[in-house]
Amino acid sequence: MIAPGTRQTVDLPVSVLSDHTPVSMSVHVIHGKADGPTMFVSAGIHGDEVIGVEIVRRLLRTPHLKSLRGTLIVIPILNAFGFINHARYLPDRRDLNRMFPGTPGSLLRIFHGRGDVVASGDLMAVVCDPFGENEQEITAPFDGIVVGRAVLPVVNEGDAIIHLARVQSMKRAEDAVGDLNDQLSDDPLFDEDEII
Ligand SMILES: [Zn+2]
Repeated sequence: MIAPGTRQTVDLPVSVLSDHTPVSMSVHVIHGKADGPTMFVSAGIHGDEVIGVEIVRRLLRTPHLKSLRGTLIVIPILNAFGFINHARYLPDRRDLNRMFPGTPGSLLRIFHGRGDVVASGDLMAVVCDPFGENEQEITAPFDGIVVGRAVLPVVNEGDAIIHLARVQSMKRAEDAVGDLNDQLSDDPLFDEDEII
């Protein structure tokens, strides 16, 4: 509760790194003495664009705020990960500017790799919150062969996790994958050392 005529900085927890380090987002709330509209200002959605952060700093210091009617909500750095790393995007290269309204990310464990043959109903992966309190199992919707999988340990709603190919003949698909593996192992890429 922020009383009229006061201002406060609220640290909103936004994420937990894989080692449980908490990440928060500072929200400045300036609550005018008199009633009025609420305005929201943000900066730093692209972590390498620091000019907006400076503009917001000046806005937060302007004397006019003393006679503010209504409420001003200001977030100087939306993309804390990018700001710390001098990078535009989130650590997994997604653009925070394209993520509204968004959903919280989850941890992903995958039990199958490319080339694995799976049967309908096989456990493919588990998605859970960082504390493992809510786990959701993902099973194969049909018999098939894994042709692609997510490589990042964090997933968001809408992300593809496993690409499962439906095949007409499992035997032929297995043979084709076996042939491919044989070709790759017969003709391996040179090590850099061998080329030099
Ligand atoms: Zn931008």
